Amino acid sequence: MNENHHKVVIIGSGPAGLTAAIYTARANLNPVVFEGLQPGGQLTITTEVENYPGFENGIQGPELMEIMRKQACKFGAKCYFKSVTEVDFSKRPFTLKADNEIHTANAVIIATGASAKFLGLESEKKYMGYGVSACATCDGFFFKNLKVLVVGGGDTAMEEATYLTKFASEVTIVHRRDEFRASKIMLERAKKNPKIKFITNAVIKEILGKEENGRKFVTGAILQSTKDNSTWEVQADGIFLAIGHQPNTSLFKGQLEMDETGYIIVQPGTTRTSVEGVFAAGDVADKKYRQAITAAGTGCMAALDAQHWLEEHELA
Ligand code: FAD
Ligand code: NAP
Repeated sequence: MNENHHKVVIIGSGPAGLTAAIYTARANLNPVVFEGLQPGGQLTITTEVENYPGFENGIQGPELMEIMRKQACKFGAKCYFKSVTEVDFSKRPFTLKADNEIHTANAVIIATGASAKFLGLESEKKYMGYGVSACATCDGFFFKNLKVLVVGGGDTAMEEATYLTKFASEVTIVHRRDEFRASKIMLERAKKNPKIKFITNAVIKEILGKEENGRKFVTGAILQSTKDNSTWEVQADGIFLAIGHQPNTSLFKGQLEMDETGYIIVQPGTTRTSVEGVFAAGDVADKKYRQAITAAGTGCMAALDAQHWLEEHELA
């Protein structure tokens, strides 16, 4: 028996990948999970997760992912801290290269997620999870009666800003131009909201914060004009980045059908990709919802789709 041949390989260990691992392991498919550079996925860079069902009092993101990994391993999934660097889906069994080892698989579940785009500032890294966020649905609740900035001029920025007005006392959208990429309806909705202000032709030059009793806080930002480079300071308790997301799909370019922004296209209502036997789950195929629970849900779907496909082809 070739120990590098697997019935199912799962690429990625966020909620989608690990849920797929739980289901495929329970179906006796002996899944192998290549966890990649961010074992546990995006939730490992956040603090409290309050909207994942089953945790009445919330749970820390890294802890939730550790529980999911343990649950998958309990049923026999093998998780390796390896990244997949090459795939060949043109012939079966599929071939994958993980940390210079060649593996083959009858079915592959892609759960490589998407990464929020960031500004690339050191101060942004420092306050990530302590006032800097890229997910209003996740973190908005922590900003009750506080002032927040939302960076971006697209639909996400308008949506996040509008959502944040449920909690924050004041939301200021900071956009680098004075024209907006956002759809008219979303922009108008934001403009009509009395809690939302706009600062246009400006970017964030630095995020300001402080540390007290071992806890970090955001206190504001230095903005820079994109017209004349002048700078000024604004006060804020939170900064939400809404400058787009990038699906982690460069590995699959030319092998799977993707939309114009690189998200993997799946057949509606399924996780089937353009290659039979290759399935995609979670943020990598979802530009709309991007939540842990939806990723876990489609991870379950991918496991069931893979199981049925393997059984149909007598490869299980
Ligand atoms: P991800 O979690 O992105 O995981 C992708 C996985 O793929 C990672 O393990 C990575 O290492 C792996 N990978 C990538 N490339 C490779 C490769 N080449 N080889 C092997 N592995 C690879 N959602 C909520 O519902 N509630 C929240 O409170 C919440 N808070 C958030 C806070 C922050 C700061 C962020 C950024 C997101 C938050 N989200 C929240 C969104 C949620 O984290 C995502 O929707 C969810 O993690 C997507 O899961 P996924 O499994 O599709 O992908
Ligand atoms: P987007 O449309 O690409 O907009 C990103 C915004 O961020 C742009 O305004 C861009 O400015 C700005 N930006 C990018 N990099 C920046 C940087 N380094 N510094 C400062 N600003 C920066 O992304 P999105 O808003 O996430 O939307 C993605 C897709 O999802 C779109 O198709 C959108 O319609 C869709 N979406 C739909 C809904 C909905 O219908 N409900 C909700 C959310 C998203 P410039 O404009 O100057 O480039």
